[in-house]
Amino acid sequence: MAEVVIYRYGHRPSRDKRITTHVALTSRAMGADYMMVDTGDRALEENIKSVNRNFGGEFKVETGVSLNTFLNNITKEDTLIHLTMYGQPVEDRISEIKKKLNEDGRIFIFVGAEKVPGIIYSKSNFNISITNQPISEVSALGLFLDRLKDGKELDLRLKGRLDILPQERGKNIEFYPDSKDCMEILLRHKCNEKLIEHSIAVQEVAMNICAGIKCDKRIVNAASLLHDVGRTVDNGVKHSYEGYIICKREKISDKVSSAVLKHTGAGITREESKKLFLPDLDYMPETLEEKIVACADNLIKGDERVDIFDQIKRYEEKGLKEPAGRILELYKFISQEAGFDINLIEI
Ligand code: SAM
Repeated sequence: MAEVVIYRYGHRPSRDKRITTHVALTSRAMGADYMMVDTGDRALEENIKSVNRNFGGEFKVETGVSLNTFLNNITKEDTLIHLTMYGQPVEDRISEIKKKLNEDGRIFIFVGAEKVPGIIYSKSNFNISITNQPISEVSALGLFLDRLKDGKELDLRLKGRLDILPQERGKNIEFYPDSKDCMEILLRHKCNEKLIEHSIAVQEVAMNICAGIKCDKRIVNAASLLHDVGRTVDNGVKHSYEGYIICKREKISDKVSSAVLKHTGAGITREESKKLFLPDLDYMPETLEEKIVACADNLIKGDERVDIFDQIKRYEEKGLKEPAGRILELYKFISQEAGFDINLIEI
């Protein structure tokens, strides 16, 4: 699949700050891979980085790429498309352009801000208009990308720390804290160094496990880092419940807080939870992400990787035969999902 790269010409940071940002946002959301801007603008680059952090993806903006550098970088395999009201109607040439998507070269889309030099009209493989009326570069680009991708860009699901859940009215946003957020939460709740080192070790194992598994890595990452945050309130068996409450208070997605609640051993059955006087909730991991976090925790003691069979033995020695059996089953299940023996993971 060809890379789709936008080149923004004539950007004046003082005047075009907003519109160039909108060119970048539109490109990013509609499935372009990369954007170059002729004038240097660090603020714009940082702004898009922060949008990626919040809403996902790795769309990059590189500023300070002069027109000459841009033109010299174009090879014979690449296609240069210039969006201009003076060009040919998009509907006349789009099927030809779409074929380029399946070829090796890159597709460069050139949009202007101020007067575009004549050389662009002659060097471009296609000068394309979205109506012959003057419209904004943002709408020209959005409509062109939509035609290029046949509307499929609307299905793009980027995953960042915020998920917007479509609503008929109002706003519904799910928060998936990234590693930086999790560290801030751990520190805010006064987790000591030992606890933080343990959490990082569990996270490392968990991310190793889920590298080859189709799952939501944001949940695994956050829940593995936060799984023991409740130990700052209760260092006994109730810590998973306390961690769950902290996650709720931090307005973290239920998918993460639930994995924190269910991480002990390979889960706690209803009967066991009653005997342990735990609040009446479900402590058994159900989702793949919940199971990965619980399993990763079983592979770590302090900040050291421990053999799963030693861990199981420790449970048995404490008379916890059934939980030990569940840990073994969970370990086997996750190894099968991962496609390798997770007891071999080294950190
Ligand atoms: N005065 C500039 C010129 O002479 O090229 C046009 C400036 S216009 C505000 C900014 C950019 O929007 C253009 O360079 C072009 O890329 C895009 N644009 C505006 N209207 C367009 C249209 N009808 N079709 C395609 N692109 C258009």
